[in-house]
Amino acid sequence: MSTIKRILVAGGAGFLGSHLCERLVDQGHDVICLDNFFTSQKTNVTHLLGKPNFELVRHDVVAPILLEVDEIYNLACPAAPGHYQYNPIKTMKTSIQGSINLLGMAKRCNAKIFQASTSEVYGDPEVHPQPESYRGSVNPIGVRACYDEGKRAAETLFFDYHRVHKTKIRIARIFNTYGPRMHPFDGRVVSNFIVQALSGKDVTIFGDGSQTRSFCYRDDLVEGFVRLMDAPDEVTGPINLGNQGEYTIKELAELTLDIVGSKSKLIYKPLPPDDPTRRRPDITLAKKHLGWEPKIPLREGLTKTIDWFRNINLETYRPPTPNH
Ligand code: NAD
Ligand code: UDP
Repeated sequence: MSTIKRILVAGGAGFLGSHLCERLVDQGHDVICLDNFFTSQKTNVTHLLGKPNFELVRHDVVAPILLEVDEIYNLACPAAPGHYQYNPIKTMKTSIQGSINLLGMAKRCNAKIFQASTSEVYGDPEVHPQPESYRGSVNPIGVRACYDEGKRAAETLFFDYHRVHKTKIRIARIFNTYGPRMHPFDGRVVSNFIVQALSGKDVTIFGDGSQTRSFCYRDDLVEGFVRLMDAPDEVTGPINLGNQGEYTIKELAELTLDIVGSKSKLIYKPLPPDDPTRRRPDITLAKKHLGWEPKIPLREGLTKTIDWFRNINLETYRPPTPNH
């Protein structure tokens, strides 16, 4: 039997999706990249357009689409706070209606389906580090809820399709990930700090910078995606994927300035509402079921990311929203 699979990557032109498409195309699979280009642009995948096993479809997952596939990765959703809060109702629709449409496709095609869930399902966690068994502390009426509750509802839908229709599901809870091809105007902390440090502008720390995050390099994460998709069907997840190194935002700012060799000043701005105080994944399950753990330390990954940012022309990027 052929090992070549027909694989749909929804949100495939984005930061993580474009890297995943690249990897699947290199493995020889027949890849359909579907995207509405809300927070990405075609240039992320133009290098794949000439390949016979790559296809690009402009489509919004909120609307149904008929495709015949063996595997589906659902990454379609704005991921940066400024982007998902720009049109919060659309963000919720994307997570919920988008998941329903793709789960329907998985059911019809008997395809495996992967959901890019998030550490945001834990909200501002009272348990540290966060294991998958922790049910979270999300403010359901706050400004982050459109994303957090949308992703939580998507997990519910995945499990209900699994229980009711025996759909083969995989759920990854992704912790903060960074790397080349992040949108330079996405407003996320890594891209913001790098762009500010490279241009000599002030580096904007929100709050006092004591809040923590754990930063995973893109290649490590995408390796985890593929391992989870290829795992036995009983490994449904949710499984945390993230780097266990935990840094304060101030430490990240200082490290970025050090690598760039920048003289930018650190300035302090108000902390956005519901900004989680601490975040670090417990990756015991990923180690056990996928034999996976990140290999790239923050300094090395940041150096590669900064090199990429040094070589892009910011004028060729359109800010997706005014909220960056
Ligand atoms: P991204 O914004 O670069 O990628 C998301 C992609 O989805 C973009 O190409 C965007 O245009 C597309 N998209 C958005 N709404 C869509 C819609 N309605 N229909 C079709 N396409 C749509 O962000 P990313 O960092 O690559 O994130 C990819 C996925 O991983 C997202 O689902 C995100 O929630 C999840 N995730 C990412 C992180 C991280 O740190 N990068 C952390 C947790 C979860
Ligand atoms: N942050 C910051 N300065 C920035 C952008 C973000 O201090 O210019 C902080 C933000 O308040 C949060 C952390 O960095 O505490 C991570 O923010 P990001 O938007 O990257 O991701 P998330 O909050 O979703 O983890």
